[in-house]
Amino acid sequence: MAVNNVKGTHDIIAEEANAFNYIENLLKQIAELFGYNEVRPPVMEYSELFVRGVGESSDVVRKEMYTFLDKAERSITLRPEFTAGIMRLIVQNKLLATNELPFKAYYVGPVFRYERPQLGRYRQFNQFGVEAVGNDSPEIDVETIALAYTILTSLNLEKVSLKINTIGDDESRENYKKALKAYFAKYLDEMCPDCHTRYELNPLRILDCKVPEDQKIVADAPKMKDFLTERARMRFDKVLSLLDEMQIPYEVDDTLVRGLDYYSEVVYEFHYVSKEGNDYGAIGAGGHYGHLVKELGGPDVSGVGFSFGVERLYSVLKDDNLLPPSLNNPVEIYVMPLGEVAKPLAMQVATELRVSGYRTDMCFEDVKLGNMFKRAERKGASFAVIIGENEVNNQEVIIKNMTTQEQISCPIEKLICKISELMGDECCDGECQCHHKEN
Ligand code: AMP
Repeated sequence: MAVNNVKGTHDIIAEEANAFNYIENLLKQIAELFGYNEVRPPVMEYSELFVRGVGESSDVVRKEMYTFLDKAERSITLRPEFTAGIMRLIVQNKLLATNELPFKAYYVGPVFRYERPQLGRYRQFNQFGVEAVGNDSPEIDVETIALAYTILTSLNLEKVSLKINTIGDDESRENYKKALKAYFAKYLDEMCPDCHTRYELNPLRILDCKVPEDQKIVADAPKMKDFLTERARMRFDKVLSLLDEMQIPYEVDDTLVRGLDYYSEVVYEFHYVSKEGNDYGAIGAGGHYGHLVKELGGPDVSGVGFSFGVERLYSVLKDDNLLPPSLNNPVEIYVMPLGEVAKPLAMQVATELRVSGYRTDMCFEDVKLGNMFKRAERKGASFAVIIGENEVNNQEVIIKNMTTQEQISCPIEKLICKISELMGDECCDGECQCHHKEN
């Protein structure tokens, strides 16, 4: 019996992989425009990092981590998100002491969460994101939002909606948590078992509950905005006024709290409903974090970051026909050896073409010439290079234009010049002084 992929994972094949590369490369380029450099933390970390970093009360830590004991009985977790690992990387490598602040890093790669698989929700998926650490200003918060917004407009996802909220400073949150506890205490008996745990660990998490009956209770819960300290309110107002000045549209959503424990002050999510009406939920999300670096043994500095789900970006771009029309890489030249005797020369020719930058493939099977041409067509080749016994003896090849069907003989040493000429490339008109001719 065949073995299938693990539930909740998915294969990314050929053209789809090209689309992922297209998306990731664009995101990387834009992050670099904003002064970010790439970091690559390992996929696995000690479990304690996420328990301390992401927070014991988060669903991610309580229910969704892929955790196992290694052979030395150490508890290891496949990263369920990047931020905690990047903070560990920053602290361990003392990057805040040796770099201009904020230290700006971007990342891309797989993350793992044991969630219920459904539309746009996988157990292994890819995230792209940024972190700016070591500066506490509202300006850096807004710069990350501007970066995310630039990414979305560069992908032509203008219909995106930015939902933003503040969860205040420590004092605001303490007051708010007390008010939530007092409110939910009255309804706890009617609420789901998860909410009981959330009530004990962090009542803010109850606001994320997806159980419909609980959501009705949540709807009338006290609002964060009524518990903000003056300082936190002013900070949030500053963020909003900077967004206004930068003409970045947003919608304040006072129910938004985000599912990871490390956030403080401003939090945000980008939502997108495709033309087909598919709602993929948040395609990206982020916010400011106050104590995460200190929590992980570093200095008491804050940071801000966001993360996009690459699968979600791909799905909305595909749904709305916003991917570039051609994302496959057709072979340009197909080399066709006729019989065993021609194979060594065919391999040499293919190598030379590849070294010169032509996407080249070769037929390895001993099939009839007509069949080889069909294969060349299916691969989208512009030219076929045919090598039979005569060609081996004369050290030449036949070049066939797959569109016009014209064919010519060409000595091996002139092959690259001829192909360049036929492809309309600049160098090599057959008379030029390039190294191909000299060879
Ligand atoms: P989070 O780290 O939970 O803030 O998620 C950041 C982004 O990752 C979300 O906005 C989604 O685009 C994406 N994401 C989160 N969970 C999943 C999942 N299970 N499958 C696919 N994408 C996800």
